[in-house]
Amino acid sequence: MRRPLMAGNWKMHLTLDAAQALARGVVEGLERALPGDDGVEVALCPPFTALERVGRVLEGTPVALGAQDLFWEDQGAYTGEVSGLQLVDLGCRYVIVGHSERRHVFGESNQAVQRKLGAALRHGLAPILCVGERIEERRAGRADSWVQDQLRTAVAELKPGEARRLTIAYEPVWAIGTGEHASGEEANRMAGVIRSLLEELFDAQVAAAVRILYGGSVKPANVGEFLAQPQVDGALVGGASLEAEGFVAMAVEA
Ligand code: 13P
Repeated sequence: MRRPLMAGNWKMHLTLDAAQALARGVVEGLERALPGDDGVEVALCPPFTALERVGRVLEGTPVALGAQDLFWEDQGAYTGEVSGLQLVDLGCRYVIVGHSERRHVFGESNQAVQRKLGAALRHGLAPILCVGERIEERRAGRADSWVQDQLRTAVAELKPGEARRLTIAYEPVWAIGTGEHASGEEANRMAGVIRSLLEELFDAQVAAAVRILYGGSVKPANVGEFLAQPQVDGALVGGASLEAEGFVAMAVEA
């Protein structure tokens, strides 16, 4: 059985005090709503600047710390980059890899995503690999092949034992931060496409083990539609993860 994951991607939001307060709000809200519950896993992905401060709040709680990106080298002359080694040092368990904003705002290629995924696994981090088509591909009827290409390249160098450790987030780019979201049915269908490809590239055990999340304008009012889908194992939430009460309510539903 796959354990559902509710992950909050805080993107480039929050100063230190605000990040600390939000993390506290989530931890305390979960303690009240789900005391001792180990049904759903919850992860918070603050910006790099707040990882240490949020990490201190999460220490000793069931809520996991995650980063939003990493670079594939461990150290060196790479101004502005942060390595997997440094993320582990900060207490991160998760790292988002290949988010659509990294791909489309910062020009990250499928090959770069592949190298980052390898680095995350090498450091024992649990990667949340993001895939998703833009509106152009969807309109042209190429959404499935686009997502399959992203996935195929990202995992090309992985062994089945490594692939099992992935979480994949299907985040259609047109649904991110737009208020427009895929239907539960469509999210389920695409998660099925992703799972079938995992079976083809690896084996049935990998396909059954990997969690597939939906992301894109998920909020308390619509999260139930995604969580009800058999192929969808949780959500990667942007904007709506910046409010503790709503985020906790979504975790409670998972
Ligand atoms: P929104 O939930 O703000 O649409 O963002 C989704 C996302 O990109 C999560 O990684």
